[in-house]
Amino acid sequence: MTPEFEKSIKKAFAEQGPLCKNIEGFKRRESQLQFALAVGEAIENKDVAVVEAGTGTGKTFAYLVPAILSRSRTIVSTASKTLQDQLFTKDVGRICSALAVDCDVAVLKGRNNYICKERLERLVDRGLFPEPDSYKRLKKIIEFARQSATGDKNDIPGIPEKDPLWPWVTSTKDNCLGKSKCPHYEDCFLNHARARAREADIVIVNHHLFMADLSLKDDTMAELLPEADLVIVDEAHKLPDIGIDYFSDMFSLRELQDFSEEGRIIGKAHAPGVIRWDDLFLEVKKAVLNIHQTVYRGMALEMDSEIEIGEIADFAEKIKEPFEKLVDAVSAIASAFKTIEGANEESDLFAERCGELLERIRAWQLTLANPGAVKTVGGIPSVLWLRLTEQNVLFSNTPLSLAQPFTKARAKMKNAWVLTSATISTRKENGEPDFSYFLAELGFDSQTPTYTWESPFNFAYQARFYLPKNLPGVFDENFAHELVESAWPLLQKTQGRAFFLCTSFRSMEAIADELRLRMGANFTLCVQGEAPKSELLERFKSSPNAVLVGSMTFWEGVDMKGDALQLVVIDKMPFAQFDTPVARAKKEWFAEQGKNPFMSYQLPEMITTLRQGVGRLIRSENDFGVILFGDNRLLEKRYGKIVLESLPEMIRTQEFARVYSFLDNPDEAY
Ligand code: SF4
Repeated sequence: MTPEFEKSIKKAFAEQGPLCKNIEGFKRRESQLQFALAVGEAIENKDVAVVEAGTGTGKTFAYLVPAILSRSRTIVSTASKTLQDQLFTKDVGRICSALAVDCDVAVLKGRNNYICKERLERLVDRGLFPEPDSYKRLKKIIEFARQSATGDKNDIPGIPEKDPLWPWVTSTKDNCLGKSKCPHYEDCFLNHARARAREADIVIVNHHLFMADLSLKDDTMAELLPEADLVIVDEAHKLPDIGIDYFSDMFSLRELQDFSEEGRIIGKAHAPGVIRWDDLFLEVKKAVLNIHQTVYRGMALEMDSEIEIGEIADFAEKIKEPFEKLVDAVSAIASAFKTIEGANEESDLFAERCGELLERIRAWQLTLANPGAVKTVGGIPSVLWLRLTEQNVLFSNTPLSLAQPFTKARAKMKNAWVLTSATISTRKENGEPDFSYFLAELGFDSQTPTYTWESPFNFAYQARFYLPKNLPGVFDENFAHELVESAWPLLQKTQGRAFFLCTSFRSMEAIADELRLRMGANFTLCVQGEAPKSELLERFKSSPNAVLVGSMTFWEGVDMKGDALQLVVIDKMPFAQFDTPVARAKKEWFAEQGKNPFMSYQLPEMITTLRQGVGRLIRSENDFGVILFGDNRLLEKRYGKIVLESLPEMIRTQEFARVYSFLDNPDEAY
């Protein structure tokens, strides 16, 4: 790094420097400065830096300051909307004004976040709504589109995220009319957002958009990525999981239904009376239903299940006819649109899309005719599986690793990369950080520079890790009862203010039932599924003596600072997530390569999740509390040492009295 650049970073973080002077509450931390210097190094050398920085290190300042000082064109990708909003509305602005640097920041979201004026206008003109009561909500959208500068649908309150209206008033890469044909191109919200992003110094995106673009499934930021000097991936531990879907070959009945409903309306709008559109599209509906029933009843699969297709007896034979009917139905539609070629740009575009869909369905027909022969996707080992739900069947050919496609996509760019999170590494038995799993997942070589900065919080003072004695094994039928029994005196002590983080819905329900039996009106029980996550968290915060019981969704992205949370009960090590077709295939694949699937795949994944769960407890220097951990394999199994080494350095105990007195008086107990 040039001495000038290094000096400017050090100056920014100095005791009497601009950040300390100008930002209220900013606390200088040596680890944050070192992090910033590592980012500076990566920027200058166009290199990669993988950084694990514990909660409270001040990650966002550590990467934004060198990015801003170097005037690098920067893309920041985050996993959560909360962080995206925080960067956009707070952090970048505060840093720029503290450093007295001009810097333009923009947020860019996926296409489906922006109202498409063209599609909105057509929907209104036609008056054909997805649901009879859609009109009231549509009026809100029309009003919003008139006044809004951004067209970001997330700014319209009161319309649920899954409202069937959204696909009708937003665009996809396939149904956007584009520059040559769209009358709204010049005042298109999406194009404005893109133009803003092209001008900006820092563009904030999310992992979904980022991976969709890298996998060429979207084109929203296609021009930005190669041009960026620096790509920062925050919450990077989420990237492989999110990315894998985008690099999969997927096909679902839901997309067919949406597609045919759109086609029916377009056909009727542009060539009414010429063709019996309703009848044509009814055939697609019937074919879709037939496939759903064949999978559900004909293959006797359970609802809400995922299964490897190769494991379904006589799958190819059973699916053959229903798929042929689907091909016939879509072929008939493709032909019908051919006969009205030239009627309108919209119907011509739909005809093109119909042809492409037909090709995809035929390719899937071939795949499903001989599922045993499918071993790769894009040349990468893969697994072919399906998910059955009430309304949908999703077929997917999923790669077992992101390393190759991710490396290939990155190879086209010459930018510096910083990947950071509070939980990327595990620890070796000797306590040293081990980044090998994360690096391998994304195809970075083992020599990639990695850095670890521990959380500045004093875990030994602020937290206890309690593993009660005499708990039965986690698979014992009385486990939930005994776990709640152990937690109950602590719950009374903390007066609620507790999370139960469970590894499965079954465990969550069993624990919630046990709590209900004990709780009187003095406690408020919030159980996942009773309301959306954000509402439950609000209820938890605003109710006295609240206890929240949740499954995996509450293990991350929940920031409950202060007294609100003093007890986190974790039922067991989160190994449960390995019972999916993809995870099973991945385990086999690791074994085929001569690796131990448990040590090289399941354990690091589990530890990352566990660290996230444990990380819910201490969110600031003033927090204190207890982790009650129910899984005694931690002491019984050899890998338990690696797990313990990977957790923050809390004082560990099996003595109830020590934990109780700590809650009574943390200062004295320390
Ligand atoms: S350019 Fe595409 S997204 Fe924009 S208004 Fe036209 S159709 Fe909609």
